[in-house]
Amino acid sequence: QRKNAGRNGFSFFEKTMSEGAMERLRLVHDLRFAIQRGELALQYQPQLGLDDGRLYGAEALCRWMHPQLGQIPPKVFIPLAEEIGFMDALGFWVLEQGCRQLDAWDRAGFRLPRLAINLSVRELQRPGLVARVESILEATGLEPARLELELAESRIMLRAEESIEVLRALRGLGVTLAIDDFGIGYSSLAYLRRLPLNRLKIDGSFVDRLTQDPNDDAITRAIIAMALNLGLDVLAEGVETAAQVDFLLAEGCRHGQGYLYSRPVDAEAFASDWSAGSHR
Ligand code: C2E
Ligand code: MG
Ligand code: MG
Ligand code: MG
Repeated sequence: QRKNAGRNGFSFFEKTMSEGAMERLRLVHDLRFAIQRGELALQYQPQLGLDDGRLYGAEALCRWMHPQLGQIPPKVFIPLAEEIGFMDALGFWVLEQGCRQLDAWDRAGFRLPRLAINLSVRELQRPGLVARVESILEATGLEPARLELELAESRIMLRAEESIEVLRALRGLGVTLAIDDFGIGYSSLAYLRRLPLNRLKIDGSFVDRLTQDPNDDAITRAIIAMALNLGLDVLAEGVETAAQVDFLLAEGCRHGQGYLYSRPVDAEAFASDWSAGSHR
């Protein structure tokens, strides 16, 4: 078929485009069945104290193993799910799966203090979200503060007024709220002050060049100072080097996650890595 396309006069670029479009159509189709076919899974990445290396939580990250195409990155399938109206089902699956895992670890004697779950903007806008979170907390009996919901900054600020209402209701349930990818979105400091947040996560793109790019040093320093002044806990994403840890600690950022400590791993590996000492 490729050869024919070539003979029919398609340029390489056109072929690539149409193959891309075909693959996209296929993903759109297959994604709808990914849950029932058991192709989705959560991985867990530890969140640690930068000073003492103690485990204080984990972030759940969704994975889609496509039977033919292999791992599809969340940066691809999450926006697709939103586009095709599947994010509601996917988000619910993630929330339920994450809470059930936390509960299962409790019962197995591995007490992870907190689990963070990402929420898409669509999910935040769904009227049933608060009731859903409440019912999952009830079903699992988890202490609400141990569930942390991460909201991407760029998205939340686009709908700040609506978001504030929902966030207040979620805080009312006792869950912990974090703003994700802070620094790269449409920051409005005025809104930030009004959002009922517990934590701010510095985007990994700033952490990446810390101690190498003076601009990123300055931005990171300012974000940490602002977070602390607003009374928010601050966590750095994408921590990969000891030099970054030193910089962050010196500025007052006490928590981090990143490849320096661990990549995201499946539930079994996470428990075996961290249940013994819960310390690194
Ligand atoms: P995020 O929430 O900001 O997650 C952090 C991303 O950085 C993850 O990518 C993680 O694997 C990666 N990461 C962690 N440490 C390091 C590091 O040291 N260096 C580098 N270079 N990267 C690091 P991942 O798993 O590919 O997820 C990408 C994004 O997809 C997430 O960004 C989040 O926005 C979204 N996502 C993932 N799972 C879910 C989900 O269950 N629901 C929703 N709504 N979004 C999700
Ligand atoms: Mg996140
Ligand atoms: Mg992030
Ligand atoms: Mg990020």
